[in-house]
Amino acid sequence: MIDPDAIDNLKKIVGKDRCFDSAEQLACYCYDAYFEEAMPDLVLFPCTRDEVSGILKICSIHKIPVTARGAGTSLCGASIPAKGGVVLCFSKMNRIVEINTKDRYAIVEPGVVNADLQKALAPFGFFYPPDPGSMAMSTIGGNVAQNAGGPRCLKYGVTVDYVLGMEVVLASGKVVRFGSRNVKDVTGYRLSSLFCGSEGTLGMVTSIILKVLPLPESVSTLLVTFDDLDNTAKAVADIIGAGILPVALELMDKTTIRTIEEKAHIGLPVDAEGTLLIEVDGVKEACEKEIKKITEKLEANGAVNIEVAKTEDERETLWHARRSVYGVFAKLSPSLYTEDIVVPAGKIPEMTRMIVDIADKYKLLVGVMAHAGDGNMHPMIPADKSNKEEWARVKKAFDEIMAAAASLNGTLSGEHGIGLAKTEYLPLVMDEDAIEFMGVIKKAVDPDGILNPGKFV
Ligand SMILES: Cc1cc2nc3c(=O)[nH]c(=O)nc-3n(C[C@H](O)[C@H](O)[C@H](O)COP(=O)(O)OP(=O)(O)OC[C@H]3O[C@@H](n4cnc5c(N)ncnc54)[C@H](O)[C@@H]3O)c2cc1C
Repeated sequence: MIDPDAIDNLKKIVGKDRCFDSAEQLACYCYDAYFEEAMPDLVLFPCTRDEVSGILKICSIHKIPVTARGAGTSLCGASIPAKGGVVLCFSKMNRIVEINTKDRYAIVEPGVVNADLQKALAPFGFFYPPDPGSMAMSTIGGNVAQNAGGPRCLKYGVTVDYVLGMEVVLASGKVVRFGSRNVKDVTGYRLSSLFCGSEGTLGMVTSIILKVLPLPESVSTLLVTFDDLDNTAKAVADIIGAGILPVALELMDKTTIRTIEEKAHIGLPVDAEGTLLIEVDGVKEACEKEIKKITEKLEANGAVNIEVAKTEDERETLWHARRSVYGVFAKLSPSLYTEDIVVPAGKIPEMTRMIVDIADKYKLLVGVMAHAGDGNMHPMIPADKSNKEEWARVKKAFDEIMAAAASLNGTLSGEHGIGLAKTEYLPLVMDEDAIEFMGVIKKAVDPDGILNPGKFV
């Protein structure tokens, strides 16, 4: 039960319009794109850093849990307020403060939607590489807190590679700034990197300085089909093993392609056992050379058909189809278990087989989808959480997929994070001392554990 005086003081900071406290309003903030729920006591929409600081000062005195929220698209339950308290929603702190192409940076508030930043940069001939499938909804603050990735992160790297600096409000309400607006900076600990992937457990990010890049001269996208899933995965391992680094190398199995096509009707190859969506970019001649090398590897692995998107519209349609994958799978059942394991790229064929075998063993439907070039696999298992027997099978399959990834020197998450979904699995890939060290860092900046409690640290 939160002290009523504290609630009154919190409400005063943001005003009536930016405070939700009715049961109906709170219910909208008790879930994200994972399948658990927990009710907050209050949802506040700050507009400035000083408001965030004021809110945290009160929460810190009264030991009220605070969970940050961007767009609530987390697939691991990171933005669910597991212990109730305040949800601090950053959707109104959404200004692009500065775009400086001469010095290659952009300064944004945390609530800026990823796609809006891309739109703002394009007229300058620049872009921001991390492109999560949720880019039309998810915020830069959420991307930073989850260290989000996306298809083109194979060539360009993930969010942490683009954060030059940030402003953070700690649990006490103290404001701290890290890094700078310089693309090279090794002054002291790289504290901004510590906050990337911290899932709102260390502080509230209120401003971010991002590195931006010039748009490539040319981009080509290929849709490749195989009549064997093993060969599809082997082609990926061969391309990467030959030192070829496309922008994106996405694998989808038959179930995934069929499920998308049933919804999108865009003529995807529904009879293929495996497909690859491959993108290359750069100077035109270099792209052509790269496509030639990739084509040789695809043919050597038995590709049945290789098609290059002829127009920008065709290219966008293919990517739109790929990005719709969670949406269409979510429609198959009341709940959707999505995985985010990573294995070394050379182990993709083995891991693909293991996923299919595990799903067969537990009589579950699985769609295999992967940012295969960097070994990041997203098997999706649609099921009904209210069906206890079925859900127990899903849980067993999930345990085994996780253990299988660890056995191949893989890891638990490539981009979606740990959240509520994976805390219990941390010992599979992190030793005890490393887990304890995270606890030491947490204790130093949030001694009362008010920031996003109930999560991985
Ligand atoms: C259809 C779909 C496709 C997706 N595709 C991808 C993908 O390709 N790659 C990928 O990496 N992810 C993907 N995701 C997962 C999700 O979109 C990302 O994790 C995203 O970064 C979350 O952003 P958000 O704004 O929704 O944050 P939220 O879900 O609201 O929050 C995520 C975490 O960030 C914290 N947080 C939010 N704002 C702040 C802040 N200002 N300060 C401190 N902490 C904060 C929250 O407390 C929480 O722990 C996908 C999700 C969906 C639904």
